[in-house]
Order: sequence, then C-alpha cells, then structure tokens
Amino acid sequence: MDYATYLKNYPSKDGKFGKFGGAYLPPHLVPAMEEINDAYLTICQSSQFINELRRIRREFQGRPTPVYHCEKLSRLNDSKCQIYLKREDLNHTGAHKLNHCMGEGLLAKFMGKKRIIAETGAGQHGVALATAAAFFGLDCTIYMGAVDVAKQAPNVARMRVLGTKVVSVDRGQKTLKEAVDAAFEDYMENYKDTIYCIGSAVGPHPFPMMVRDFQYVVGQEAREQFLEMMGFLPDVVTACVGGGSNSIGMFLPFINDPVEIVGVEPLGRGKEMGEHAASMTYGEEGVMHGFDSIMLKDANGEPAPVYSIASGLDYPSVGPEHAFLREIGRVKYDVASDRDAIDAFFKLSRYEGIIPALESSHAVAYAIRRAKEMGQGSILVNLSGRGDKDIDYVIEKYGYGEEFKF
Ligand SMILES: *Cc1c(COP(=O)(O)O)cnc(C)c1O
Repeated sequence: MDYATYLKNYPSKDGKFGKFGGAYLPPHLVPAMEEINDAYLTICQSSQFINELRRIRREFQGRPTPVYHCEKLSRLNDSKCQIYLKREDLNHTGAHKLNHCMGEGLLAKFMGKKRIIAETGAGQHGVALATAAAFFGLDCTIYMGAVDVAKQAPNVARMRVLGTKVVSVDRGQKTLKEAVDAAFEDYMENYKDTIYCIGSAVGPHPFPMMVRDFQYVVGQEAREQFLEMMGFLPDVVTACVGGGSNSIGMFLPFINDPVEIVGVEPLGRGKEMGEHAASMTYGEEGVMHGFDSIMLKDANGEPAPVYSIASGLDYPSVGPEHAFLREIGRVKYDVASDRDAIDAFFKLSRYEGIIPALESSHAVAYAIRRAKEMGQGSILVNLSGRGDKDIDYVIEKYGYGEEFKF
C-alpha cells in the first residue's frame, strides 16, 4: 500500500476506513451529522479557520509542545536504546484533549451554534470542553454520572468555575454509560443549535476523521522536532490507546516512514472479561455508539464491562481507524498492565521529574520494555497528559512506590 495518499483516501466519503467506521444513527440525526460534515469539509479549506486555529494553538494552548530526551530513564534500562517523549502534558489543561476540543469549539463558532455538550467519565474531556466553551463564549453542558460527580470533585469544580453547567445523572449505575445516554437525549432534542462534542476518535462519521485531523498536529510537530534534534527518525513510535485520539494524531504523520508504530492498550488486572479494556487485543468486530469497529462484547453481544487503573482508557471499543490500520498491517497493538503502568509512573517521576498521567504511563511502560528488548535505537512516546489528577489515588493505593525497585 502507498501511504503517501493515505490521508486523501481515508476515510471514504461515507466515513469508512475499509469495513470500519461509518455512521449508524437514528434517522432524524442523519441530516445533523451531514451538516457537521459539510461544514467541516468547507471550513477546513478556509484560510481564516486554519489561521485562527494556528493562532489559538500558539497563543492559548502553548504549542508547539517540546520533545524531550529521557537520558536517565534510558540509562536505567541496561540498553543503549534511547527513549524520547512528546510532551502533551505541557499542552494547556495538561493533556492532548484540548487539541480536539478547541477544534470542535471553533467549528461550532463557525457554524453559528450557540451551545456545545458532552458526557464525561473522570472529567478530563469535560474540563477540556469547558475550557474551549469559555474561550469561544459558547454555552456548555456536561453530563456526568452521580457516582463520578462525587468521585471527581476537583474536575467538577473546574468545569463550574469555567462557567459550564454540570448535570449529575442519577439513573441506573450513575456512571459513564448513563451520562452518555443523557447527553444523547439532550442532543436528540437540541441538535439545531447544539453540537455534541465527542471526546475521542470514536462515534459516527465525521467525528473519527475530525478528531484525528485536530490531533494530527501532535505527530506532525513531534516528527519535525525529532528530525531536527537527531537528523533521523525514531525506530519506534508509540502511544496509549483508549478511544484512540492521542495515538492516531501521533501515528499518522509517520505512516509513510520506515518507522514501527505501536498502540498500547490497558491490560488492567488480567485478561479475563471485566478486568481489562484491551479492545483491539481481545475484541471482535461490532457496532456501538454509532460506528463499526473492534469491541469487547459480553455473552449477549452487548458492550462488555471494562476496567483500567487509568479511567481515560476504560472504553470497550476503539476508534475505527485503529481497527483498519491493524487490519492492513501498518500499526501493531500491545498491552501494559496496571502494575506496569504504576512502575513507569514512579520511574518517570523519580528519574526525570515528570509525573505522567496513568493513561500515558502505559505507553511509557511499553517503551521501557521495548528498549530492553531492542538494545539500541530510539523510541518516541506520546506523553498524552500529566499525572497531577492521579496522585491522590496512586499514593492511597501504592504509597510512595516503596515496593517498586529501581
Ligand atoms: C482521555 C485520555 C487518554 C485516552 O484517550 P485517547 O482518545 O485514547 O487518547 C489518554 N491520555 C490522557 C492523559 C487522557 O486524558
């Protein structure tokens, strides 16, 4: 396959990546998605839109974020292989999520929509979207399960300070699934003046494509920066995979290069159903949340229960483009467990002075393992976010890492 024309060919007009992707929607939402798609395809050709997005990235988000060489972490590995980080933890609000939220907010503004909504689990997507809403002067409502509202008090407070309405959803299990249902009901009623801003490279077309395009800047910067730093490209590029947004943005700019690309999924506590969220590794093809991809199903064919120590990774499916990239053999997927991630969390903190998000720690754990195996060469990791949000949980469960030997 010639990857030089990959971005032109995928997705197809109807949002397909091979057999994956598409838009499986209730009929009356089809025109709403078409409206978003048409607006996006027009706007992303407009120099006004592109220049405004560039200005926002530079002046508000603090882009470009740097690439950093982890000399001490690399030395620990008894290997000449060197580990580098793309520092998305230094993006405003502390993670890559703002990249697509600012894109979605700008799109809403250009389309003349007055309101953006979303669901959130741990609150990371909610905070990023609330930030975009404040910036663009849009109304914002975030749906969150009542259990999560109680658990994630600091993120709820952040959203409210930013002027967003947080709705606590009190039905069923009172977590993410019910929040998705409530947000979707809101959208079904209010789609004329509202955009439902999806938080990863998932959902019906055009969201996997738009989120990918908004995250593309991550890999594009990283590729240029690494080349300038070293004079050659890394041997391996890696990132953690939840829904797949930080990883797809990191991967695609390298797709036409002689570079091995690896996505890292959460193995959680083990490979039994309910103990992990490694959709690509253990899942099968299916349709959920409006798109066709690889998913974890229970005995009834419904989305299976999932678990990861990193709440941003516990999703029972994955963006359709990832399913396609594996099918055509361009990207490989591997796993890291909770324990691997915690070990990497403490190592990066102690040896480099960087406290990573638990999500990102999965990719760092994989890089540490691969560096030992490879013995030489270089690995570029997307450090998708910072770990301040995870510290209380980690020390409650693992203390200050005494049991991890360095
Ligand atoms: C949400 C999140 C992820 C997982 O989402 P993707 O869409 O797979 O990138 C990873 N890292 C951080 C820091 C997150 O907040």
